[in-house]
Amino acid sequence: MKEFELIDTFFKAGSYQRKDVVLGIGDDCAIADVPSGQSLVVTTDTLVSGVHFFADAPPEAIAHKAVAVNLSDLASMGAEPAWLSLSLSLPDADEAWVAAFSKALHALSEYYSIQLIGGDTVRGPLSVTITAHGFVPQGQALCRHNAKPGDLIYVTGSLGDAAAGLAILRGQLKTTQNSEDFLVNRLHYPTPRLLAGTAVRRIATAGIDISDGLLADLQHVLSSSGCGAQLHLEQLPLSVAMRESVPANKAYDFALAGGDDYELLFTVSADKRTNLEINLANFNVEATCIGQMTGKDGKIELRLGDEPYSLDVKGYEHFS
Ligand code: ADP
Ligand code: MG
Repeated sequence: MKEFELIDTFFKAGSYQRKDVVLGIGDDCAIADVPSGQSLVVTTDTLVSGVHFFADAPPEAIAHKAVAVNLSDLASMGAEPAWLSLSLSLPDADEAWVAAFSKALHALSEYYSIQLIGGDTVRGPLSVTITAHGFVPQGQALCRHNAKPGDLIYVTGSLGDAAAGLAILRGQLKTTQNSEDFLVNRLHYPTPRLLAGTAVRRIATAGIDISDGLLADLQHVLSSSGCGAQLHLEQLPLSVAMRESVPANKAYDFALAGGDDYELLFTVSADKRTNLEINLANFNVEATCIGQMTGKDGKIELRLGDEPYSLDVKGYEHFS
């Protein structure tokens, strides 16, 4: 199959259609309208074979992750996704692979009501670059630099599951079949927390998605905002599967240092706490307060109960 046939058959056909797209796949550029009063929010992420996924990973899983990591970035800004473009580098025109990949991509596009509006297809080592475009009401984007000392720190969902899933795949962790399925699934099929982002954007001061681990990503918020942070480990949200699979100190290592969870972290002024919790309940979003921002520029202080806690350094390096 020639390049144009491949694009027409697998990417133009079957893509979800939105009314704000004036011109989709097929011309030199796509044309789309941004609603008035909204800002355009744009992000790109590349997944490379052998670096971000195993070369023989199912094409459906690669498509899912490529879309999900980009939508997670939009979610962290409080944006709603609208359009995608896809740059695909393929070692050969393996039609079965492209068919399975595009089917999964279209299914996700439909689920999130987003349209694939263009891209590029080249021959080369397998890699997938997606650019996601979304909207946020003007002035409401959640930026990292706006966190203030005294703000409460919240995270969505549960932490460390993807890292535990990776440990299972590497043969470093054994658990029950149920927990294994849950943890490995969390690694392969992350859920972008879009609803959480929109639920908190009017109230929160800053937001980031946790892709490299809680400590690493919180550190970005500290660098941008000039704050420090204190975390209370007993408050870290741990899944049932995590609790069942490892002792508490190991779970803290996974939660603090393990990447790929794609949960959101956001900060909120302490006097908005009730307002925030009502909004979270309204949107049916689960989020847990795990600490607060401090004035200690750039420093993360860990506490377990009333005691300072030092991270198992070997555990930490294992992830980095
Ligand atoms: P050009 O040479 O004008 O840049 P291309 O041949 O690269 O155009 O692409 C033709 C059309 O197909 C364009 O509209 C482009 O956006 C779209 N396209 C190419 N590859 C992909 C892809 N992998 N997914 C979605 N759209 C694609
Ligand atoms: Mg052109």
